[in-house]
Amino acid sequence: MPESIHIPCPKCGAINRMPEARRQDRPTCGKCGVSLFDGHPVTLTAGNFERHANAQDIPLLVDCWASWCGPCRAMAPVFEAAASEFEPRLRLGKLDTEAEPGLAAKFQIRAIPTLILLRGGREIARHSGAMNASMLRAWVHQHLPA
Ligand code: ZN
Repeated sequence: MPESIHIPCPKCGAINRMPEARRQDRPTCGKCGVSLFDGHPVTLTAGNFERHANAQDIPLLVDCWASWCGPCRAMAPVFEAAASEFEPRLRLGKLDTEAEPGLAAKFQIRAIPTLILLRGGREIARHSGAMNASMLRAWVHQHLPA
């Protein structure tokens, strides 16, 4: 019996259960039908945050940003491109700290951009300040060795 994994849908949040081998196989959501890995970061809100942050089988990399923050805007394309690079191993999510002040307060975000890596509801790592693609790759690998 192959070990099964649980992947929250980026659109509807349904937890999709599948064998580990299917992760690489362009799976779609059993409830709403969208691709579970579409190469784009999820917009995180109070409504869907816990579901993605609590996932044990797919760590969540959060970009905490704000529209007025220049370094955040500079890093946005790097983070966007990283979604297709890191999926289906990681879920990437954008947290607009102005739109979601409750989440920003919960994570005590004092500087932006801040990147937070979570798995199973636990914070694994945090980095404040913009990163380029190679820095981001190295940082993720350091905290989540393949
Ligand atoms: Zn869905």
